[in-house]
Amino acid sequence: MANLPGEREDKMPPIWPRKYRSIQLRDKVKPGELGILWLGQGGFAFKTSENKVVIVDPLLSFSASKDGMTYIHSHFPVDPNNIKVDYVFCTHMHGDHTDEETLTSLWQANPEANFYGPLESYDCFQRIGIPRNRASVLSLDSIVNLDGIRVQSVYAECTSKEKITHYGYLFEFGPFRIYVTGDTKVGLEGYLNKIKWTVVKKPDALIVCINRGFSNLGPEDAARLVSLVSPEIVIPMHYDCFVENTIDPAEFVNKLSPALCSRVVFMKYGEYISIKAKAARHVPNRAP
Ligand SMILES: [Zn+2]
Repeated sequence: MANLPGEREDKMPPIWPRKYRSIQLRDKVKPGELGILWLGQGGFAFKTSENKVVIVDPLLSFSASKDGMTYIHSHFPVDPNNIKVDYVFCTHMHGDHTDEETLTSLWQANPEANFYGPLESYDCFQRIGIPRNRASVLSLDSIVNLDGIRVQSVYAECTSKEKITHYGYLFEFGPFRIYVTGDTKVGLEGYLNKIKWTVVKKPDALIVCINRGFSNLGPEDAARLVSLVSPEIVIPMHYDCFVENTIDPAEFVNKLSPALCSRVVFMKYGEYISIKAKAARHVPNRAP
């Protein structure tokens, strides 16, 4: 098709051929351990020793190219059409967290899976045909108990001008308590009181947004949150996905308190690790 006047071909974002890496989630997780796979951006998959797979905020399609975003990686860690998942959680209805194309693939490959999210994400679940008995809308501080896994939707501050419900999630996989911040607005002072009950629960691991793009939690506030939560391990996220919206994680490291006892685990895009209960020391500590 001919370009429209003023459009230039070299301005178009590249759309990579679709490629996937191996699915390490097929491996068994030993008792007392939890598998964690970074799907990129804010997306993570957790696998328990009981073979339950929970995914949060999967972006496994090139949908964001249509919005002018340029993907850094030309492949995805897993194929959403060929992955076993039991529960999917979305934090909010932005394309990099509630992606119709990815959710459609996951749903079609896993008709027994259950999907959870705030109202706007729930509307998306309905749009793509997930039946009502497989999709749930969560209100703030909802608690769901799933085969020994407990999940609570916790406060996150909307990052966009348009009012969209944002949540973080507090996951409890047996002995592992993991706080995923989701996207949450920079300027913790304005809403710290709303996340204090999440903070006092002393999560073992904090998966935190460190990228200030689009008014998100930047390195300064992320480092402050780490000090407040004081988890055993910290996994920075929401970078290394889009050329237009990324950050050097060293910026985050530079803001961390020297007195911090937490161990920072920089996962590579698509990397899989397993952690042991109460033992962040079992996780390799890497520089960015
Ligand atoms: Zn985001």
